[in-house]
Amino acid sequence: MSRRDDLAARLGAVRERIAAACAAAGRDPAGVDLLAVTKTVPAADVLTLMDLGLTAFGENRVQEAGAKVAEVAAGTPAGRPAARWHLVGGLQRNKARAAVEWADRVESVDSVRLADALDAAVRRAVDAGRRARPLSVLLQFSVDGDPKRGGVPPDGLLPLAEHVASCAGLRLDGLMAVAPLGADPDTAFASVAAAAERVRTAFPQATTLSAGMSGDLETAIRHGSNVVRVGTALVGERRLTSP
Ligand SMILES: *Cc1c(COP(=O)(O)O)cnc(C)c1O
Repeated sequence: MSRRDDLAARLGAVRERIAAACAAAGRDPAGVDLLAVTKTVPAADVLTLMDLGLTAFGENRVQEAGAKVAEVAAGTPAGRPAARWHLVGGLQRNKARAAVEWADRVESVDSVRLADALDAAVRRAVDAGRRARPLSVLLQFSVDGDPKRGGVPPDGLLPLAEHVASCAGLRLDGLMAVAPLGADPDTAFASVAAAAERVRTAFPQATTLSAGMSGDLETAIRHGSNVVRVGTALVGERRLTSP
């Protein structure tokens, strides 16, 4: 099977899982976006996925992504909408400037200090004419409050939301979460949904809930996720091969 046929078959299977999960939850599948997580896969696969109809891609490392974003932009056929890129992994403040060069959204904002670094980087890019829009931001919510795994713990969530909402360079769009390893996904995503609701009550524009990956997207959809971030089920275990 060619790589394109392989990706097409995997994409079809993922779309069927999303449709089945939506049907079971009484939801419209049009209300769940698929973010293809393309960390460790080469630009050629991203271009194939674009050809198969995907438009949004998630990366978790700034350096790997920067080169890939440029390669994908160069390889995108004329007249085709540009790929949109989300940063889904932990971000160090000293990489904020590099990230805002290509990211349409950062899904992993979990501290005031990181929000400030991104805000400053966006303003600089806007002033220099390299960026037209504020940066879309999701707050990464930590279900279990474990500081090692990233994410803002429950008691820090609303103060962080308030801070992000006050940053002119940032747009607070919602919440992202990963179910903790070994946790029951049903319990985890129920608490994520409650946290998302708290943020939405205070900030009605923050309607995005990015939850669910290859292994648990059905559970996340049952709990109201409207973005699933799928890597392995879509691209397999393929690893980036250096040229
Ligand atoms: C890698 C990654 C994903 C995708 O995980 P899969 O299990 O491969 O689908 C989703 N979200 C984040 C934050 C990731 O780092």
